[in-house]
Amino acid sequence: MSEGSEEIDDLFARPGLSRAAPKTGFPAHEMLPPVAYELVHDELMLDGVSRMNLATFCTTWVDDHARRLMAECMDKNIVDKDEYPQTAELEQRSVRMVADLWHAPDPATTRGTSTIGSSEAAMLGGLAAKFRWRARGGTGTPNLVCGPVQVCWEKFVRYFDVEIRQIPLRGDRLTLHPDDLAEHCDENTIMVVATLGQTFTGLFEDIAGISATLDTLQQAQGWDIPIHVDAASGGFLAPFTAPDLVWDFRLPRVKSINASGHKTGLTPLGCGWAIWRRADDLPEELLFNVDYLGGSMATFTLNFSRPGAQAITQYYDFIRLGRAGYTRVQSAIYHVARHLAEGLRRIRIFELLHDGDPQRGIAAVCWRLTGAPGFNLYDLSDRLRSRGWLIAAYPLPADRKDETIMRAVIRHGFTVDMADLLLADLARCLEQLRLRPFTTSLTSEDAGSFTHTAAPAVPTTEITPP
Ligand SMILES: *Cc1c(COP(=O)(O)O)cnc(C)c1O
Repeated sequence: MSEGSEEIDDLFARPGLSRAAPKTGFPAHEMLPPVAYELVHDELMLDGVSRMNLATFCTTWVDDHARRLMAECMDKNIVDKDEYPQTAELEQRSVRMVADLWHAPDPATTRGTSTIGSSEAAMLGGLAAKFRWRARGGTGTPNLVCGPVQVCWEKFVRYFDVEIRQIPLRGDRLTLHPDDLAEHCDENTIMVVATLGQTFTGLFEDIAGISATLDTLQQAQGWDIPIHVDAASGGFLAPFTAPDLVWDFRLPRVKSINASGHKTGLTPLGCGWAIWRRADDLPEELLFNVDYLGGSMATFTLNFSRPGAQAITQYYDFIRLGRAGYTRVQSAIYHVARHLAEGLRRIRIFELLHDGDPQRGIAAVCWRLTGAPGFNLYDLSDRLRSRGWLIAAYPLPADRKDETIMRAVIRHGFTVDMADLLLADLARCLEQLRLRPFTTSLTSEDAGSFTHTAAPAVPTTEITPP
């Protein structure tokens, strides 16, 4: 049987599929495209079903037109502004749209950029704050003050030499509380990072309260401390479903905001946004110029080459849906979240920490176990996995690590019917655990592989959940 032989037309009889897949070292031989494709495609059957992954915040459903644009634009490098001027133009329009959505004083002239995700956008927001602090005459070790934050901020401080002052949780306070700020800030605080949609619980932080407290602190101490809002998941929710919530550039102290287009912005993976309040909130030293239509255009990203398709597809989403469409889509998602919360409440052994109230947090549901039912949430998470549901269980951050919680993020494409299927499976799993409890309960380490709580490369830092 030789590879490529005309008589052998059954894919699975071909040599490439009748031996083990190449795994170590660079493969010596070639394979026909359909053979290699089948091998890769079939291995991926072992992955979880993304739409049943309620641990992720990221887009898992996109329409056919978005798919088409993604495929059509696969070859466009967003950094080649001169070669693909219309891609650059669509990105710039999107920047102005997002700046407008977040109430920048002058959306037409402010600066912003698409990024590969919120992490890159967060690095840029942090770097701008660090450069502004230095320009103000800052010396010594710069610090940032925050509550429980996503791992990208731990990355930012380690990569760019900034001290992180993470304010511990106390009692029932599950978000950064404004009252705790004063004792952690000083003249070297480059910014306070406030989160619109905390990773752990999905709750919004009180950004207006944080801003007011920093106003008071400025009067007392003279420190003018800016706020960067990490609106990774809330940035494309609150403007539509809680429009009166003041968290964005309506607060003069908010100098920069990041959000993930690939989360509630509804684009496929690989799209984030970083927007500054005014053009001069982004220090000139961070700008690099590239050729653009005979002139030049400022860029400020960590990557050089990057796909253009995501920013293009984000523009498609913006014009396809507009404010009315986004409001409808996001309201529908919250409706499902509240439906799930109602079902969980009826099970009685759960206490809800976030029930999908659009004024309080993102479209997610977060709960803890009450009483001593003889199993924990890691056991439940494991049982649910046997039905294909991926739902994270993990401890709260310091100083409330004693509490284990579970969180389900509801996203575009998750329906009331799927929530009902999940609730039915949940009831079945609880019954199984009651009848046949594990002899030894699982721990956060057992669950780590899919809740992102696994040991980090440097064992001194804890990696927070996704
Ligand atoms: C997801 C998330 C991030 C990281 O965003 P990516 O787009 O995954 O890089 C940062 N902050 C918060 C609050 C998040 O939820």
